[in-house]
Amino acid sequence: MNQNWRGAVVRHLLLLVVCCALLGLISGEYAWALVLGLGAYLAWHVKQLLRLHHWLRHRQPDEAPPEGYGLWGEVFDNIYHLQRRDQRVRGRLQAVIDRVQESTSALRDAVIMLDSDGNLEWWNRAAETLLGLKTPQDSGQSISNLLRHPRFKEYFEQGNFQEALELPSPINDRLRLQLQITQYGNREHLMLVRDVTRLYQLEQMRKDFVANVSHELRTPLTVIAGYLETLLDNVEEVNPRWLRALQQMQQQGARMQNLLNDLLLLAKLEATDYPSDNQPIAVDLLLLSIKNDAQALSAAKHHRISLEADAHLKLKGSEAELRSALSNLVFNAVKYTPAEGEIRIRWWGDEQGGHFSVADNGPGIEAKHLPRLTERFYRVDSSRASNTGGTGIGLAIVKHVLLRHRARLDIASVPGKGSTFTCHFPAQQVIRRS
Ligand code: ADP
Repeated sequence: MNQNWRGAVVRHLLLLVVCCALLGLISGEYAWALVLGLGAYLAWHVKQLLRLHHWLRHRQPDEAPPEGYGLWGEVFDNIYHLQRRDQRVRGRLQAVIDRVQESTSALRDAVIMLDSDGNLEWWNRAAETLLGLKTPQDSGQSISNLLRHPRFKEYFEQGNFQEALELPSPINDRLRLQLQITQYGNREHLMLVRDVTRLYQLEQMRKDFVANVSHELRTPLTVIAGYLETLLDNVEEVNPRWLRALQQMQQQGARMQNLLNDLLLLAKLEATDYPSDNQPIAVDLLLLSIKNDAQALSAAKHHRISLEADAHLKLKGSEAELRSALSNLVFNAVKYTPAEGEIRIRWWGDEQGGHFSVADNGPGIEAKHLPRLTERFYRVDSSRASNTGGTGIGLAIVKHVLLRHRARLDIASVPGKGSTFTCHFPAQQVIRRS
C-alpha cells in the first residue's frame, strides 16, 4: 500500500469513529454506535472480498474487473493489469514455441525428442517419412520398440553417442539413415536423423570400383607372374642381361599380387557389418601357428619371438578375419624389427575383456604418425615399406577386423626403442573356461 492509500484509510477510519461518536452523542449509546459503525465497515470489506473472489473464479478471458471503490478498486485494477501482462508474456512465449516447432517441422532432417527412458515425446514431420513414426499413436512409445534394428538397440543401450550410427530405414530398405543422439537436461535425448542415401551410394560405388578393379587385375597379373616364373625357371636360356630385370619384375609382381589380395580382403570386410561367424576361437592355438609362420618369415634375421597366451580364454568371432589381423601385427613386427631383435606376443584377460599385444624393440614410430597409421596406404617411410614389400594396407585391415569384433587398437611407440600394438576386445566377445 503506498503512502496516499495509508493516509486515506486512516482518514476513513477517523471519520467513521467521529460519526460513531456523534451517533453515540445523539443516542447516548457510545459503545453500540461504535459496534454498529465498525460492523458496517467490516461488512463492506467482506463484500468487496467476495466480489474479488467471484471475479477471479468466474471471469471470462479479457473480462474487466468489477467496479471497485477506494482501495478495493485499486486492488482490482492491479490484479487485472498483472493478469494482462502475464497473458501477453505467455502469448509471446507461445509464438516463439510455435515458430520453433514450425521451423523444425519444415526441416528435411528428422528431429525426435525422447525422455530419459527413451520414450517418444515429440517429433517433426520428417520423422514420419524417414522412420515411419505415427502421430499421435506412437507418442509415449519406447524408441527401441519402433526402431528394431539390433545395432540401434545396442547403440542406445550402451549410451555412448560420440559417433553417429548408420542404418537402413525401417520403412524403406533403400534409404540409408544417419542417427545422432545428444543428451540434454535431465538425461533426455534429442535424436537427429539424416538421409545419407546419396553419400552411402557414392561410398558403395567407391568400394565396388576398388573391388572390381582389384578383381579384374588379378587374372592378367597371374598370367604375367606365371610367364616370369617360367622364364626364371629356365634361366640358362635367358640373356644374362635380362636376368636382373626379370627378377625385379617378379618381385614387384608379387608385391602387386599382395596389394590386390589386401584390397580384395578390405573390400570384403567393408561389405558386411559383423563377422559372418561368431564361433569361440582358441586364441592360444591360433597364436602358436602365427608364431611359427613369423619364425619362418624371420628366417635369417633370427628374431627372438616369445609367446604367452592364456589357454582358458577364447574369443568369439571369425577365425579367418582374426588370423589375418593378428598375423598382420606380428608380421609387421618381424618386417620392421632389425635382425636379432625381440618380439613378444601376449594374450591375456581381465574384467574389461581380452587383450592381445605384440611388442618389439625395433625402430619405433614417431608420435606424429600414430593417428594416421591405420589409414589405407599410409606409410611412415615409403622407401622402408618398399624394402619390406609392404602395401600400406595391413593396419587398415587390422582396424576393420577389430571394428567388426567391437575391439579397438592401441599403438604405443618410442622411436629408437620399439613399438607395442595392443588390441582390446570387450568382455562380451570373450569366453573364459576354468
Ligand atoms: P605395410 O604393409 O607398409 O607394413 P601397414 O599398414 O601394415 O603397412 O603399416 C603401416 C606403417 O606402419 C608401415 O609402413 C610402417 O612404417 C609402420 N609400422 C607398422 N608396424 C610397425 C612396427 N612394428 N614397427 C615400426 N613401424 C611399423
